[in-house]
Amino acid sequence: MDKEKTVIILGGGSGGLICANKIRKYLHEGHRVLLVDKKENHLFYPSLLWLLFDWRKQEQIERPLNILNKKGIEFIYGEVEKIDFIDMSVYAGNRKLNYDYLIISLGAQLNTSKIPKTDTIYNFYCLEGAMLAQKKINQFSEGRIAILISSSPFKCPAAPYETGFLLDYLFRKKGLRDRIDIQIFTPESLPMPTAGPIIGNTIKQMLEQKGIKFNHDLKLLSIDGKTDEIKFTDRTEKFNLLLIVPPHQAPEVVKDAGLTDPTGWIPADPKTLQTKYEKIYAIGDVTTIKLPNGKNLPKAGVFAHYQAEVVANNIASEIEGRGLKKQFSGKGYCFLEIGEEKAGFAGGNFYTSASPAMKMHKPGKIWHWTKILFEKWWLWHWF
Ligand SMILES: Cc1cc2nc3c(=O)[nH]c(=O)nc-3n(C[C@H](O)[C@H](O)[C@H](O)COP(=O)(O)OP(=O)(O)OC[C@H]3O[C@@H](n4cnc5c(N)ncnc54)[C@H](O)[C@@H]3O)c2cc1C
Repeated sequence: MDKEKTVIILGGGSGGLICANKIRKYLHEGHRVLLVDKKENHLFYPSLLWLLFDWRKQEQIERPLNILNKKGIEFIYGEVEKIDFIDMSVYAGNRKLNYDYLIISLGAQLNTSKIPKTDTIYNFYCLEGAMLAQKKINQFSEGRIAILISSSPFKCPAAPYETGFLLDYLFRKKGLRDRIDIQIFTPESLPMPTAGPIIGNTIKQMLEQKGIKFNHDLKLLSIDGKTDEIKFTDRTEKFNLLLIVPPHQAPEVVKDAGLTDPTGWIPADPKTLQTKYEKIYAIGDVTTIKLPNGKNLPKAGVFAHYQAEVVANNIASEIEGRGLKKQFSGKGYCFLEIGEEKAGFAGGNFYTSASPAMKMHKPGKIWHWTKILFEKWWLWHWF
């Protein structure tokens, strides 16, 4: 065996969790695998929407990251404060950690600085916000619910639309739907634009059929928490309850390390996920990857997952000197919850030459149940 190596993974979210598991499995015991996160628990984000509707509790969709210690993955609880490429070290939780290989999976940070804190405005893209919003949705009986996408890119391009469908379903069940106006406000021209116009128009039609207004191509200026108004460049809209997707940005620590480009995210090789530095990789939401059609690869757990597998395989192959190297193919898929215990399923390859070759399956119970099984499998398999 080669000299013992230390592989450090920053971030125990979707990408980091899988990467740590896979590398640990591939490497001999003598090599160290460290996973660093500022949170003690891993959250399975796809279930956050179910929590928003009280179909899940916090403890059902989280797992403590220190469970991974029993697999030989050393969990370090602490905020990553500095990455030093010259010294090949990171500073986290008052410790200096030296690495031979570094994988950055720190995700996207939500910038809530311009969002007023009132009891009518909720950031449903984080656990705390979703829990508070759940109580408010439960009490809501009349008026307008606005779902606002502040800016692009944002993670899980389907989630705001799913939220609209699930609100529609909830209030129909309660017999309140005719008293509640559900509207979506977005800078996008079509839902999930990177997936192409066929999928975008299909979702747009589904929204129309459910009486959910799709307001598009909007540039947000500000949110007024006193008057409950959203100000766009060309109009002002009122709301009684605002569910907001805050602006996303890369965590400060990767910007300070000089890893980001003018997009504000880390450019990574589309196939190997290597950054501009050797032995340093970036995966998942923190990256920016240009597609052949000029758009960027969406931010979604499914990509973080497949990228993590590729990077883990390739680092292990390099360290152990065996096995073939792999490449990320650009394939991805997503579920689209629409209520009535039904979901749609869209998937395809984002790396195809002109535009992504995507296919959307008709919504049905099968996809909803597949997502439930996936949730159970995830929280069992990776812990
Ligand atoms: C409501 C909702 C629903 C979603 N549903 C789906 C879905 O159905 N399918 C899908 O594919 N995707 C979905 N996503 C998107 C998916 O969750 C993300 O794309 C995915 O988690 C990205 O993985 P990641 O590893 O890049 O980042 P993350 O999973 O966000 O992990 C980043 C980790 O880094 C940690 N971190 C950040 N900064 C620091 C620091 N300085 N120091 C230490 N730790 C730090 C964070 O605590 C976090 O644990 C959803 C997202 C939301 C919000």
